[in-house]
Amino acid sequence: MDLKQYVTIVENWPKEGIRFKDITTLMDNGEAYRYATDQIVSYAQDKDIDLIVGPEARGFIIGCPVAYALGVGFAPVRKDGKLPRETVKVDYGLEYGKDVLTIHRDAIKPGQRVLITDDLLATGGTIEATIKLVEELGGIVAGIAFLIELTYLDGREKLDGYDVLTLMQY
Ligand code: 5GP
Repeated sequence: MDLKQYVTIVENWPKEGIRFKDITTLMDNGEAYRYATDQIVSYAQDKDIDLIVGPEARGFIIGCPVAYALGVGFAPVRKDGKLPRETVKVDYGLEYGKDVLTIHRDAIKPGQRVLITDDLLATGGTIEATIKLVEELGGIVAGIAFLIELTYLDGREKLDGYDVLTLMQY
């Protein structure tokens, strides 16, 4: 299946010069959403995954059906102040300024094999921060899966040494 036909390119959003890849038109198509999920499940199948971890909000949309299919749990990574119990935090750079991502301290047990999911790899900052959280808790990043990779932003350079799957490249 050619998944790209289900992605809508939105010109100049959220600001001038950006060609936003809108995946909602992939998600609201049952066949396309299932196909994309199945590709990630196949990739993860032989990796002995214990847990899926994904950053809010689109990392949940990708990761949760994969967790269900593999019969493993899902742990959310969220912006600061959203999780109710003790968290570990990491600062990460945005285009302007900084933001903070958090995960519950007890979400991952040391040695657990984790698959990280998100919708899109751009500069890699979000996923680099997510990797730091997983590793700080003693998790092993066994794989990282995205629907989309923006190859011209070189996010892969931040993921050197990790096993990465991307279903579509622009
Ligand atoms: P990065 O941290 O790799 O620069 O940016 C990736 C994050 O920004 C992802 O969590 C993703 O959801 C969001 N993002 C950036 N650009 C796009 C886009 O064009 N489409 C979508 N769907 N998400 C984007």
